[in-house]
Amino acid sequence: MKHTARVVIIGGGSLGVSLLYHLAEEGWNDVILVEKGELTSGSTWHAAGLCSNFIGNMTVAKIHDYSISLYDEILPAQSGNPSVFHKCGSLRIGYSRLEEEWFKHLLSRSKNVPCEFNIISKEEAKKLHPFMNFDNARIIVSTPNDGHVDPSSVVTAMSQIASSKGSTISRFNRVLEINRTSGGEWEVVTENCTIKAEHVVNAGGCFAPEVGAMVGVDVPIINLEHQYLITENHPALQELNFELPVCRDSYCSSYLRQEGQGLLIGPYETFGAKPWALDGMDWDFDRGLFPDDLERLMPFLDRCMERMPIFSEVGIKTVINGAITHTPDDNVLVGPQFGLENFWNLCGSSIGIAQGGVGKYLAQWMMHGQTELNMASLDSRRFGKWADREYCISKAIESYEVMYTEVASNENRHHGRVKRTSPLFSQLNEKGAIHNVVAGYEKPLWFRTKEKQSEQLTWMRSDAHEVIADECMAVQNEAGIIDISGSSKFIISGGGAIDFLNYLSCNKIPQEKGSIGLALFHTSNGGIMTEQSITKVDDEKFFLVGPIGS
Ligand SMILES: Cc1cc2nc3c(=O)[nH]c(=O)nc-3n(C[C@H](O)[C@H](O)[C@H](O)COP(=O)(O)OP(=O)(O)OC[C@H]3O[C@@H](n4cnc5c(N)ncnc54)[C@H](O)[C@@H]3O)c2cc1C
Repeated sequence: MKHTARVVIIGGGSLGVSLLYHLAEEGWNDVILVEKGELTSGSTWHAAGLCSNFIGNMTVAKIHDYSISLYDEILPAQSGNPSVFHKCGSLRIGYSRLEEEWFKHLLSRSKNVPCEFNIISKEEAKKLHPFMNFDNARIIVSTPNDGHVDPSSVVTAMSQIASSKGSTISRFNRVLEINRTSGGEWEVVTENCTIKAEHVVNAGGCFAPEVGAMVGVDVPIINLEHQYLITENHPALQELNFELPVCRDSYCSSYLRQEGQGLLIGPYETFGAKPWALDGMDWDFDRGLFPDDLERLMPFLDRCMERMPIFSEVGIKTVINGAITHTPDDNVLVGPQFGLENFWNLCGSSIGIAQGGVGKYLAQWMMHGQTELNMASLDSRRFGKWADREYCISKAIESYEVMYTEVASNENRHHGRVKRTSPLFSQLNEKGAIHNVVAGYEKPLWFRTKEKQSEQLTWMRSDAHEVIADECMAVQNEAGIIDISGSSKFIISGGGAIDFLNYLSCNKIPQEKGSIGLALFHTSNGGIMTEQSITKVDDEKFFLVGPIGS
């Protein structure tokens, strides 16, 4: 095996192999992927394989859509093998006003992904899925181009294509240590040999925190148990001449799909989610599953039987209880590791099959310094030291339990609070401030009045709008103090200050002493890095205020 490589990827699951494949596609094949077991032997092999076009975050929605075309079109075209993607489509069923508002909001977003996303009637839904009871549904979305895939098949296809382009895969070879040499390269010590590399990527799945610890960083990932079950065949499904769409239902908090001539049902418990390996992973855990724990699922399975009565007519054949990673905001961690040059993260996805195309964007980032998508919401630097263990556990449990619950644009969740505050926090609270959180920071939003004590969750204009409008008018017409303690602040000073700011920004930097201007800072490729308000203090000193976390 080679002892040097441009890139070493640690982990041969859905994400690590996706990166290997996309680096090779973009032209980097001096890459070694090191996997301690067989490829997919972490969480990937047992995943239910669902890939959905129903997703809130625009960047993630684009990644999901790309992943579907990767599995269904790109890999089959490259390998010459038929697609293994089951394009059975999905139905998302909503019951509340909030879900109706949310689904309609996503309908408009879907046009920008773009992906097919239709609001359909109960009658249309019944034709697509004759066994689901839609009587109580308030809104139903059909996404006909998504479905599910066998994770091992697509990972194998990607690994074969990458290997044929010269990339190397080293299986049954655990990474033991990662060191930095005095020359600035990485030295990856494995069971079989030591590899010198320019870049290292942590794609270690449930082991990502252990891999991070090798370079002294805390990776904000918590492992939980997640289960699905497969039923015996049902005669009604044996007679079907088409595949049922996947159903996702907030009442059952479950996904329900056809598996052969039986059913596959996976609840996300809305209470009692079970974290796992909080004291650290056992390196011998490989192709591991936990004992069934159907008791925990019963409240949700009962509801599934109510909604899909044929489920109550068949026995359970198999239960899969496996490990799943969750980050505090349930978004995957992608991108550079803060403070460690050329050390990258690609881990923490709780739906890493649906997001299996994410390797494309990390490959762009590593090779070109920029991606075609705005990766801010996935950037692994969004969490800092403030995201401590207690916070990660509490938020990971929350993110698991709300997988299928309704969400609002003015959501204000209470887990993991209060973490970072300004010196004015208590004073503002006493004055009735309602805070929300940005990057762990308590950010004041608006002040309660006698008449308006709270706002309703919504995707429409907030019912606190009038109160907030009064605050804005007061600041505009009279005077007010706005707490921006959480914002990032920088002082740029010295003889080269103006040249440095001009280098970062294409906007005009304020010319007059005391004047303020807004500027975008750019990457070397012209992408947008951040936005800053720049005040000229004097000829050699500028004061910058930017977003929290910039
Ligand atoms: C029951 C269940 C059902 C699921 N269903 C779905 C679904 O329908 N759709 C979906 O999108 N997702 C689903 N998931 C989630 C999905 O399985 C994961 O998000 C995905 O597999 C994560 O891929 P990964 O590459 O990040 O991690 P993994 O597949 O765990 O890969 C990480 C790899 O790194 C290796 N590794 C770690 N440390 C080292 C080291 N030191 N040296 C060498 N190798 C190392 C491990 O052996 C492992 O193979 C499900 C999960 C569960 C538990």
